[in-house]
Amino acid sequence: MSTMRLAIVGAGPAGIYAADLLMKAERDFDVEIDLFEQLPAPYGLVRYGVAPDHPRIKGIINALKEVLDGGTVRYFGNVRYGEDLTLADLKRHYHAVIFATGAIRDASLDVPGVDAEGSYGAADFVSWFDGHPDVPREWPLEAKQVAVIGNGNVALDVSRMLIKYADDLLPTEVPDNVYQGLNANPIEELHLFGRRGPHYVKFTPLELRELGEVNDVEMVIDERDFAFDDPYVDETLLKNKQVVVISRIMNAWRDAQREREAAVSEGAQAAEGARPTRRLHLHFWSKPVEVVTEDGRVAGLKIERTRPDGEGGIIDTGEFEIVPVQSLYRAVGYYGSPVDEIPFDSVAGVIPNVQGRVLSADNAPLPGVYATGWIKRGPIGLIGHTKSDAMETIECLIEDRNTWWQPEATETGAIPALLTERGVEYTTIEGWQRIDEHERALGEAQGRERVKVVPRDEMTRISRADEG
Ligand SMILES: Cc1cc2nc3c(=O)[nH]c(=O)nc-3n(C[C@H](O)[C@H](O)[C@H](O)COP(=O)(O)OP(=O)(O)OC[C@H]3O[C@@H](n4cnc5c(N)ncnc54)[C@H](O)[C@@H]3O)c2cc1C
Repeated sequence: MSTMRLAIVGAGPAGIYAADLLMKAERDFDVEIDLFEQLPAPYGLVRYGVAPDHPRIKGIINALKEVLDGGTVRYFGNVRYGEDLTLADLKRHYHAVIFATGAIRDASLDVPGVDAEGSYGAADFVSWFDGHPDVPREWPLEAKQVAVIGNGNVALDVSRMLIKYADDLLPTEVPDNVYQGLNANPIEELHLFGRRGPHYVKFTPLELRELGEVNDVEMVIDERDFAFDDPYVDETLLKNKQVVVISRIMNAWRDAQREREAAVSEGAQAAEGARPTRRLHLHFWSKPVEVVTEDGRVAGLKIERTRPDGEGGIIDTGEFEIVPVQSLYRAVGYYGSPVDEIPFDSVAGVIPNVQGRVLSADNAPLPGVYATGWIKRGPIGLIGHTKSDAMETIECLIEDRNTWWQPEATETGAIPALLTERGVEYTTIEGWQRIDEHERALGEAQGRERVKVVPRDEMTRISRADEG
């Protein structure tokens, strides 16, 4: 049987699932797969996006690990396509390439003042709290009042990590520098803003409920947000089970708030005295229009109140409010980065493609070039979606056999030799296993499952310990 050599760029879930699916697919050729990852560690946003206090989701890594440990896929970490390897290199050594480079940047929010000091992108904060090697070790947590803009799960993760007490994160794999940073966080009030109403949110119920369960934090609701008579909610949104559950969760918070207010107005001083020290305010129908600044620093968020148009849209009301905050996080979506020598759709932030077949500028499929995961369909959807997505790409790849590249250098040792010649300190799967064991040992010493190693040079050193 002939052998197909495939390069995959990006070892997040999309890249690893693509490798797994090709290995398991019905085909009349053998496969050799090389997986290139710019970081020393694999798993993409599962390691560097999913919050540390979500161990169940992080557990997906075990399934991905099985693929990498299986011995058929060769892993080359610390290798960046576009710097360490070019498209010409791939064409010389492989029959095809799948780009699975994901997304790690924030989508932009176009309001005046958004670049002020104290205004941050959620993606940068996520990279910090998950110990991404390429971001600074320190994060400025100095504000007592903080705004988070966005009504999706990333906004929930960011809010939870900001409002949670650092000691409650200790059982997780949170890196030491992050624990120290969060432990000194003086936050007292967090304001979470959404342009639309409580029934329109993109949160998932489990994650929303979890926000209300954070230790020693009070949920504060603005009853005005629930006062609209909106036919679209009853006729359309409440037909969705998720929305019904979300509505129930919010109603429980409203009831709890009413009970608290009743206790206070009855003079129950004890109830007031026992109130949590941190508060999380939910603001709906609130469209950010300006970041208010003082001496170049965030001093508040100006919002315009909106209201439903009854058909699923919003109407601006012309009523403005300013909420005083000293820092602000924009969780309005992620955005993919262009990949060297490959077409890029800068509006959608994706590699233009049809079913994973990458398209040239004149919309014709580029032979041998494929995409999968967030860089294929945009930064939406859960890890599980990257699997069905990879299946589609793999089916196209197999179907296109006649148009693959014709590589001239197919010896197994050619790529390691090329990388070594270029001075690239690549990490192997055995090297990654050494980092993994090292992190687990660090954790064990502290009674924790794992403590992440953050600096890239330290990861590379541990990984290459046996290379001399
Ligand atoms: C903050 C956050 C929280 C999330 N929480 C959850 C959750 O709880 N549950 C859930 O199911 N989903 C969650 N998701 C979604 C999930 O992370 C994504 O669906 C999934 O990671 C997308 O997979 P991917 O492989 O396409 O991209 P990624 O995971 O981003 O992987 C892409 C990989 O490509 C590498 N790469 C990029 N460029 C290059 C290059 N030039 N050369 C070599 N390598 C390169 C990157 O380093 C990265 O490792 C979350 C996402 C975010 C942002």
